[in-house]
Amino acid sequence: MQTVKTQQMLRTALAPLRVGNATIALVPTMGALHEGHLTLVRRARAEADHVVASIFVNPKQFGPNEDLDSYPRQLAADAAMLEAEDVALLWAPDAAAMYPPGFATNISVAGVSDGLCGAARPGHFDGVATVVCKLFNQVAPDMAFFGEKDFQQLAVIRAMARDLDLTRPHVDAIIGVPTVREADGLAMSSRNRYLTPEQRAAAAALPRAMQVAAAAIKGGTGVAEALGTLEAELLAAGFASIDYATLADAASLVPLETLGEAQARLLVAARIGGTRLIDNIAVGS
Ligand code: AMP
Repeated sequence: MQTVKTQQMLRTALAPLRVGNATIALVPTMGALHEGHLTLVRRARAEADHVVASIFVNPKQFGPNEDLDSYPRQLAADAAMLEAEDVALLWAPDAAAMYPPGFATNISVAGVSDGLCGAARPGHFDGVATVVCKLFNQVAPDMAFFGEKDFQQLAVIRAMARDLDLTRPHVDAIIGVPTVREADGLAMSSRNRYLTPEQRAAAAALPRAMQVAAAAIKGGTGVAEALGTLEAELLAAGFASIDYATLADAASLVPLETLGEAQARLLVAARIGGTRLIDNIAVGS
């Protein structure tokens, strides 16, 4: 596996991968890799001839008071994990290579970016859309893999790729992968390492309370009542605050007051200590 840090090196390294009809899959990440990321890589490896992974802690998707400086960085360990998964190329630019002086463009996907994490983290999805658009243009992959763990991010990227004609040959080239979880149900996340042992134990209340709420809603309990119970359970378990607990249409992410025929998703963001955790699950109709 080759690690490249400049766009020129990236172009040089991509050329031999493209020989013949070989397909390339892109797996964008911010590093501090765990089994969730590696599951994306394995799916990509199964579906394409070559996998290109990227590691870039994107400053544009962090707010002024967020964890950009403390976000875990471990490039050598990450590279070893990717190499063991038969990744062909690691694209690991620094901020100056991604955003040279004078960089002035912002991609903003209206609607699907606005609520949920977009409301709690202004500008976050503009940063995501901008960097993912650049990654798609830099690597020109045949397919790209993203986790359902970041469900709203996946919706934003799908909308951006559709609107800007970024996918080829068809929109299925953006592939969502189900969330990989720890044994107690907590969704794997690079940010879980911020948790103290006590917080880590308490954090399992999040997926547990979400499963209970989803089952209640499916069983006929009112959405507002089920979400109220969920929030109370999280606070009782030791969460400090809840950014949102929302039932939304799985495609548009528009909040739902009742469960209808369309696919619905339960999405939650909550803080435990100084750490913000997100999760989402399907709620069958
Ligand atoms: P990140 O490094 O957190 O930006 O994540 C990079 C990619 O891995 C994104 O597409 C995430 O949605 C995905 N991802 C992160 N955690 C998980 C997980 N627990 N299960 C599946 N995919 C994940």
